[in-house]
Amino acid sequence: METIFSNTKDAFSLKTNFELLRAMFLFKIIQNKLLVKIGASLTNFFFKFYIPVTPIIKFTVFNHFCGGVSELDCNSVIKKMFNKNVSSVLDFSTEAFKTEKEFDKCFNKKLSIIEFIKNRSEIPFAVFKPTCLGSIDLFTKVSNADKLNTEEENQWQRVLQRFEGVCQKAHDYDIKILIDAEEVFVQKAIDDLALKMMLKFNKNKAIVYNTVQMYRWDRLDYMNNLLDNNNGIIFGFKLVRGAYMEKEREIAKKSNTKSPICADKAETDLNFNNGLDLVFNNLHKINLVCGSHNENSVLKIMKMMSDNDISNKDDKIWFGQLYGMSDNISFNLAIHGYNVFKILPFGPVRNLVPYLIRRAEENSSVKGQTGRELQLIVNERNRRRLL
Ligand SMILES: Cc1cc2nc3c(=O)[nH]c(=O)nc-3n(C[C@H](O)[C@H](O)[C@H](O)COP(=O)(O)OP(=O)(O)OC[C@H]3O[C@@H](n4cnc5c(N)ncnc54)[C@H](O)[C@@H]3O)c2cc1C
Repeated sequence: METIFSNTKDAFSLKTNFELLRAMFLFKIIQNKLLVKIGASLTNFFFKFYIPVTPIIKFTVFNHFCGGVSELDCNSVIKKMFNKNVSSVLDFSTEAFKTEKEFDKCFNKKLSIIEFIKNRSEIPFAVFKPTCLGSIDLFTKVSNADKLNTEEENQWQRVLQRFEGVCQKAHDYDIKILIDAEEVFVQKAIDDLALKMMLKFNKNKAIVYNTVQMYRWDRLDYMNNLLDNNNGIIFGFKLVRGAYMEKEREIAKKSNTKSPICADKAETDLNFNNGLDLVFNNLHKINLVCGSHNENSVLKIMKMMSDNDISNKDDKIWFGQLYGMSDNISFNLAIHGYNVFKILPFGPVRNLVPYLIRRAEENSSVKGQTGRELQLIVNERNRRRLL
């Protein structure tokens, strides 16, 4: 079906012929589940034994999916995208931190990024992954309402202080901040912290946005409960489908418990749509970020905005896609005046490997999306008469 998203000329206007060729090869490889599995194991092996593969990774997959090693590296791509009215959200890689020292370092890095983006309209949001500010074990214990010993209690207080420090700084500079969602076993603690932050900082407008993973069948109840029990604030919700499906199912299987994930894709899609209905029925107290590469979901929101007389540029509604994916959605939304950003990951190559492997695995398990991505690249190469 032809939609605004079929326009490849504008979608790939920032990509050189070489970059298109590289993207085509990457998505061809990513399409193959076995190759992705072998590639992921090999990459982990190379890094474990300090085999120097960084230049190869940087030249290929890293440069396609990431903005650079430092925030300054990202400036040129931020500028180019903003010329096309696509904003950026800088996401510093923060996987697998374990010590208090690392959490403090990460906290300071998040503060310095907020400093870097203040007064820059091309970077309207900050973002952080909660478990970069405290240990996964601690988040798990708090989520399970386990009793904490004195040391753990102190550590948790520090997590709270870091959370509050990041949100406070964002609030002071009037920058919206996205809190990523993670696995179910840590999410209850994250949700509780996010609510605390929204109650403190979202009195007049949505500054803090919590992420709601609609592949979880319990999330409509979660949102309804929040709305019913908290007054006087503007909720910020980032609606996504969810990135940890296979892991969640495995955990549920191993522990012989019911999977927290919807039974199939159709059920997730329905849940996502119901989530959108809930948001649009409560737009007087919810601001929305839709983090999705699903064209139908984005088209649905565009229609809901038009049905509700909401201007394309209304700051209440933002769309987000990951850098290196679904440019046809981002750049065509921008042409039509909608608010849209790219999540732009950056950091040392080694630190970004888990993120890159996740992108590859996700793309190889969602055949339709990768096929679509590849088809659009081929269409554009055809249009440029490169094939
Ligand atoms: C800006 C942005 C921010 C994001 N932030 C987060 C975040 O904080 N936390 C997070 O977890 N993810 C996050 N994601 C990833 C997101 O959750 C999805 O994994 C990804 O966007 C794919 O979903 P989709 O809506 O784009 O596309 P689609 O291709 O329509 O959906 C694919 C998704 O559907 C679900 N699904 C697929 N098959 C099944 C099945 N058999 N049964 C049930 N469900 C199924 C899975 O969630 C899968 O990822 C983010 C994505 C974006 C673009």
